[in-house]
Amino acid sequence: MLSRPAPLAILGGAPRFSQNVYVGTPNIGDRAALTGRIDDALNRRWLTNNGPLVQEFERRLGEITGVEHCIAVCNATTGLEIALRGLDLTGEVIVPSFTFIATVHSVSWLGLTPVFCDVDPVTHNLDPAQVEKLITPRTSAIMGVHLWGRGCAPTELEAIAKKHGLKLIFDAAHAFGCSHDGRMIGSFGDLEVFSFHATKFVNCLEGGAILCRDAALADRLRKSINFGFTGYDKVVSLGINGKMNEFSAAMGLTSLDAMDKIVATNRANWHLYRDGLAGLPGVAMTPYSETDRQNWHYVVCEIDEEITGLSRDDLLAALWAERVIARRYFFPGCHAMEPYRSLDPDIGKALPETGKLSRKLLQLPNGTAIDSAAIHQCCDLIRQIIAQRDAVKARLAEHPELALAR
Ligand SMILES: *Cc1c(COP(=O)(O)O)cnc(C)c1O
Repeated sequence: MLSRPAPLAILGGAPRFSQNVYVGTPNIGDRAALTGRIDDALNRRWLTNNGPLVQEFERRLGEITGVEHCIAVCNATTGLEIALRGLDLTGEVIVPSFTFIATVHSVSWLGLTPVFCDVDPVTHNLDPAQVEKLITPRTSAIMGVHLWGRGCAPTELEAIAKKHGLKLIFDAAHAFGCSHDGRMIGSFGDLEVFSFHATKFVNCLEGGAILCRDAALADRLRKSINFGFTGYDKVVSLGINGKMNEFSAAMGLTSLDAMDKIVATNRANWHLYRDGLAGLPGVAMTPYSETDRQNWHYVVCEIDEEITGLSRDDLLAALWAERVIARRYFFPGCHAMEPYRSLDPDIGKALPETGKLSRKLLQLPNGTAIDSAAIHQCCDLIRQIIAQRDAVKARLAEHPELALAR
């Protein structure tokens, strides 16, 4: 006799997982190495202000990316703001809407105007042809985002920026350890900014880094992360406090030590998901290049509701009921969040691909905190939820409080 599967949690069964399984659970390297570094910092009583661990962290970033100037900062958002100011921008900056809100907020925070550009439905990144159409006399820069670690048309955007005399910045928050056409991310445009937030592939608890190839720019940026100081009593420029501290660098160095292992785990997990979901109609994994370096941190699926008969949001609600806290990055798009939504309520019409992707994509848990049995369970749940779509939809119609906000 066939054993009948347990009822889905959204239909009244017990959740498959006994604890929430999250996207972005931190990867933690060797604890003894971490606490050793923290002890050393405490013994030195040198806890911040360009300490030896921060200096070592910056050196290691340079070795990995091949970029000459690496400036560790307290987080990527502050790093982007410091970078934008360091480039002396004015007027408009072309940005994607399909990104984490910090990309766009960093532009607005400086009093610049973000101009939203649509993305390519296949790469999920800025569409260079559309970027070029949005350039006006007020445009001073383009800010690309290497979404999921996949290069954001960096060579095409470099050519466009050069042709129009614009600065080019990349929010590389997703892309540490990745390459594009054989060149490491970090080395494109005027500068790039990595995030080392706890939920990112390599983490410093909170942290980031600005990478650039221009020595004069690097010198300006380095001063500006420390109030513009060049000596004990000497301030030569406007600045802010964007410094990374020693504990964050201790975490970052420990994370870098584990980097190859984390990539291998992420990559193996990604393939387990791919095999587990293979042949399931309407569910497609967003692929990574097998020739470029990738960190494989994001497991991204595209849900085609026409085929599955169940919307991405309803699938997500059913997964949450099972305690699988999958995500819908970057719904609904930055343009549909405040303050941008009120500034231009119609802008969504110019961003059709952003709208479609934000309703189709789903991100699944990855990293060293999840094991193959849990991945197998996640894939099995997705299959069962889709197979029972009519019951799931009926249940959500009866209990709208179980559904996700639209
Ligand atoms: C995480 C993230 C940021 C912000 O990074 P913080 O280090 O948390 O400030 C910016 N942009 C993107 C695309 C991100 O994913």
